[in-house]
Amino acid sequence: MLDARDSSQPTDSHGTPDVDTTLPGEATYTCPMHPEIRRNAPGNCPICGMALEPLLPGLDDEENPELVDFRRRFWWTLPLTLVVTALAMFGHRFGWMSPATQSWVELGLSIPVVLWAGWPFFERCLQSIRNASPNMWTLIGLGVGAGFVYSVAATVAPQWFPESFFAHGRVGVYSSRQPSSSCR
Ligand SMILES: [Zn+2]
Repeated sequence: MLDARDSSQPTDSHGTPDVDTTLPGEATYTCPMHPEIRRNAPGNCPICGMALEPLLPGLDDEENPELVDFRRRFWWTLPLTLVVTALAMFGHRFGWMSPATQSWVELGLSIPVVLWAGWPFFERCLQSIRNASPNMWTLIGLGVGAGFVYSVAATVAPQWFPESFFAHGRVGVYSSRQPSSSCR
């Protein structure tokens, strides 16, 4: 006598067995916003740039490495951010240095904040452009990048800028506005 279950096996409604293809013991990572993204290793979502999360939270619930990294970058550069912000807001009133020198000091203080603390933002911005998938990181990366490039030019070659760009004896720079936007 033929077993009914045997004959039904090959004509299963899906055709393909619903089995996790990852090896046992190997974690699967997915994007919280794009569940179709599946990776065998942690990384960033190719669509939105968010950090991928383990599908099944491990027993060893270690802290989110992205959060640890961002926090470290934020706290290490916060003193520079505060100094450059104070300088930009009140520097010209104190008259401690010439306007051109002040621009250079602000640039020096801003470089680690923008290029080191802000590096993950630029990385994800580039990734979003490469994947032709614009997202929040594209916006932040382009905004901060444009402001920074402008500020470097205004400091290094103020003679390139028209008279109307000058205020308080120098071309207005945005370096001071970088940290608050890149480190949020
Ligand atoms: Zn995503």
